[in-house]
Amino acid sequence: MPKVSPSKLKIAVDLDGVLAESMLVWCERANKEFGTHLKMEDLDSWSSWKRFAISKDDFYRILDESWDEWREIPPTEPEIAEKVARIEKFGDLDIVTGRSKRTVDAARSWVDSQKIRYRRFVRVLGWRDKILLDYDVYIDDAPDLMPLISRNPTAWGVLYERPWNRSVESMPKVLKAKSWQQVPVLLKRIQASKS
Ligand SMILES: [Mg+2]
Repeated sequence: MPKVSPSKLKIAVDLDGVLAESMLVWCERANKEFGTHLKMEDLDSWSSWKRFAISKDDFYRILDESWDEWREIPPTEPEIAEKVARIEKFGDLDIVTGRSKRTVDAARSWVDSQKIRYRRFVRVLGWRDKILLDYDVYIDDAPDLMPLISRNPTAWGVLYERPWNRSVESMPKVLKAKSWQQVPVLLKRIQASKS
């Protein structure tokens, strides 16, 4: 029998929290502004701001301001470009982000400065809109996105583990990655299940 080549996956890679450690700069800025001592580890839920009496508007404003200083934002892992490049063989890789319009230029500059290769840079209005796009796999850290992915008939999720998504329970078609190193193996599994 002829060997069937595995199908190419359309892969959506999230920016904040998956490639860029923007919450590190967010914590610094929030601490300066509110006199708090927040660390990334303290952000143990998707809407942590509620617990720290920070308004949702302030949360997103400070996140936007963090991107104004995009040169200060480290990657989530060292050698991020090399690690991301290891998934290129599985298909087409787009960066799909809910970044605000005014921070898109900064975000693109950050991605380029890190030398991360991608096909397209896609902005969505909100994280919920990601599922409306026709990707096979979403590599993301947003806990609330995972049930939407799981319920979608064709999409798969790779949940990049962060302090704020540890409580996400296991669900069909959502695989967890502790680090970028685990992502290729998970994509291989997804590819195999699709062919
Ligand atoms: Mg994210």
